[in-house]
Amino acid sequence: MSEIVDLLGLDADGLAQRCADWGQKPYRARQLMRWIHQRGESDFGAMTDLARDFREALQRCARVAAPAVIADHVSGDGTRKWLLDVGAGNAIETVYIPEIDRGTLCISTQAGCAVNCRFCSTGKQGFSRNLGAHEIVGQLWHASRALGAGDPAQRARGERPVTNVVFMGMGEPLQNYAATLTALRIMLDDNAYGLSRRRVTVSTSGVVPMIDRLREDCPVALAVSLHAPDDALRDELVPLNRKYPLADLMAACRRYLERAPRDFITFEYVMLDGINDSDRHAGRLLALVRDVPCKFNLIPFNPFPHSGLRRCAPERIRCFARLLSGAGIVTTIRRTRGDDIDAACGQLVGEVLDRTRLVERTARAAQAVEVP
Ligand code: SAH
Ligand code: SF4
Repeated sequence: MSEIVDLLGLDADGLAQRCADWGQKPYRARQLMRWIHQRGESDFGAMTDLARDFREALQRCARVAAPAVIADHVSGDGTRKWLLDVGAGNAIETVYIPEIDRGTLCISTQAGCAVNCRFCSTGKQGFSRNLGAHEIVGQLWHASRALGAGDPAQRARGERPVTNVVFMGMGEPLQNYAATLTALRIMLDDNAYGLSRRRVTVSTSGVVPMIDRLREDCPVALAVSLHAPDDALRDELVPLNRKYPLADLMAACRRYLERAPRDFITFEYVMLDGINDSDRHAGRLLALVRDVPCKFNLIPFNPFPHSGLRRCAPERIRCFARLLSGAGIVTTIRRTRGDDIDAACGQLVGEVLDRTRLVERTARAAQAVEVP
């Protein structure tokens, strides 16, 4: 009982195993899971239906601790963004996007990212380390609490602030597979968050073997970051393409669909002015995906300093979208939300290194709330 374990990172099997090690019955694991994830409780002393000596043992050898909050910004449109401390000077981001019929939490899986896509500010920061399952789930635990999920009145009304989770924050989830898988199992567990597989989306730049693993282990909704219709361009934009080219990626998508909770793959496509946005690119995309039931989500590029890239004009994005939807593919254009707080992937972390800019931004974000 010497090592302190963070219970946020244990799925049902992991928690049952720990409870067995501590000489406790299996149903204790389920009780703990409900206290921690459904009620958002971190104080073992408050878990009143556990035996006193078990509570005392937990206080000595376990904890429930999400990453500490460095900054908490609310945008004029309700988007909320937390910057969280994961130690050794590393910070990650979690973004909450409220909509009328759902609340989506965008979470990170790594501090930095090794894939180094041309258009991504997380990639530009390099790779620091993988997050543990407790740090990935910790983002959902923290956000749920901050948004009032533990509140008995809210629970009694069956309201849940976070109804959907997307793995679209910092990092490549399929390059941190073990922790991502454990986190997924906790998110889906009925004694924890009880999210359905359709409401949890893993987004990947295309780690083909791990797409196959996910299909076997825990098939949730899948988004694939495509960004180019041919290998020559994708090699430049998403360097991982040199290892797993488009033909292999499309084959993996088809295999995934045999088990997926939805009958389509979502292809994400960042629209880069003059680079991947012509009618010809759209035509070649249609040929590429003809055997893969899919939807497209076109993302206006979020500029960041020294990227050397530009966002397309809105009309160009609409034309591109019409070409895809005209061919029968459901296509959406992502609304840019939280622009005033840099809610896009990896952007605030880059700025935080420069404290003056952070203060300036915090002031701007606060202003955005007061003057909608
Ligand atoms: N690593 C995973 C998930 C995190 S990135 C992936 O690449 O899919 C989530 C999404 O944000 C990806 O589709 C990525 O292409 C997109 N993205 C990254 N940088 C962006 C930027 N500057 N503007 C718009 N979208 C960006
Ligand atoms: Fe990594 Fe995704 Fe950014 Fe590419 S887009 S560098 S895979 S986080």
